[in-house]
Amino acid sequence: MSHDIEIIGDGCAALSFAARASEVKGSVTLIKPTKAPPAKDHVWGFWSDPILQGAQKMAKQTWNKWAVITHNECAVLESKAKPYNAFKRSDWTKHCQQLAELSGVKIIDEQDWQQSSDSLLFDTRPPIVPDGCVLQHFRGIEITTTEQKFDPNIAILMDFRVDQSKGMHFMYLLPYSETEALVESTIFSTTLVDEQYYLDSINKYLAKYYQVTDYTISHEENGVIPLGNLSPHDAKIPGLGANGGATRPASGYAFLFIQRQINAAIEQAKRGKQLSFTNPHKRLDLWMDSVLLTVLKQWPEQGPRMFIRMAKALNGDQFVNFLSGDAGYWTRLKVILAMPKWPFIKAVTRHIIPSRKVTKPVVA
Ligand SMILES: Cc1cc2nc3c(=O)[nH]c(=O)nc-3n(C[C@H](O)[C@H](O)[C@H](O)COP(=O)(O)OP(=O)(O)OC[C@H]3O[C@@H](n4cnc5c(N)ncnc54)[C@H](O)[C@@H]3O)c2cc1C
Repeated sequence: MSHDIEIIGDGCAALSFAARASEVKGSVTLIKPTKAPPAKDHVWGFWSDPILQGAQKMAKQTWNKWAVITHNECAVLESKAKPYNAFKRSDWTKHCQQLAELSGVKIIDEQDWQQSSDSLLFDTRPPIVPDGCVLQHFRGIEITTTEQKFDPNIAILMDFRVDQSKGMHFMYLLPYSETEALVESTIFSTTLVDEQYYLDSINKYLAKYYQVTDYTISHEENGVIPLGNLSPHDAKIPGLGANGGATRPASGYAFLFIQRQINAAIEQAKRGKQLSFTNPHKRLDLWMDSVLLTVLKQWPEQGPRMFIRMAKALNGDQFVNFLSGDAGYWTRLKVILAMPKWPFIKAVTRHIIPSRKVTKPVVA
């Protein structure tokens, strides 16, 4: 079936699809939204996966080991088959743009666009963020220290030895060498904090655990990722990418799932069906994530205990499979058994028994 394809947006999902335009019938056009804020560069992390071989080649660094740390415990996980990688968003989008141009994809401004009557239209503008939504928000710096302070063999995924008063808070530290690292203060909560709070947290952490007080900054980044089951930007236009449910609700990881979502759509179109994008997550993963998010929202102080228990219950490959949506029932059961019981039982009850609506009387 051949239709022209129009996609609103020129971010990760739109460009990742455009890079594969030669695999679908019909022309592909990306529409740059007028109301979009300027694009910012970021360091993106992902675990290796057969579908991410293109991104793997662009990795700035790869780690076979990663750690989750709390005040009392440390779990170091390892995977030879599925290491953790970091690369620059701009490297990926440039690469996709080049492939898209080779396939004749047009990228036009919204004001110059008129939707053609028989085209297929998809939307990658961000989903709607409801009040009370759990946000993953962060600010990070790439630094160079004067002395050798980091172990470049282990990525620190979550180090919870930081202030927990603003929500579930951890440091994400990607060591590129003994003197270079990305250090990010990351919080899961429903409200944002001052810019200075993240930077003060980073400085306190570096001084206390790495004896680093003197460094130069080569790059700064910040971001907010809304988590949960979010409504699309425009209910009338089918979504793709984060706007098509690709962000994993409890982790904020989306890159792998965007590629899977696009791959599934292209494979389906190759079999003669109309191009359409479906939510790339398994229903069971979505349910487990919604329970986990409820716990993090209601009892954020449980966060460090939950993640260290999960990291200790699984080996590296199982950990990656769980976060990538590839876990079998045994791994999922191990995660469930590792969780602190009471908050989860309370959260599960909320997801089975809907809370009662209170109808207030109208006062005349
Ligand atoms: C800072 C940050 C770091 C991330 N790090 C990782 C990571 O390490 N690993 C991982 O797997 N995932 C990560 N993610 C999640 C995910 O991979 C990205 O959000 C990814 O960019 C989603 O792709 P997308 O095309 O759906 O959205 P985007 O790439 O954000 O594209 C959205 C499109 O909508 C436009 N737009 C934005 N705002 C508006 C607006 N208000 N009105 C109109 N148009 C608008 C943009 O210009 C763009 O064209 C991160 C997300 C963020 C925000």
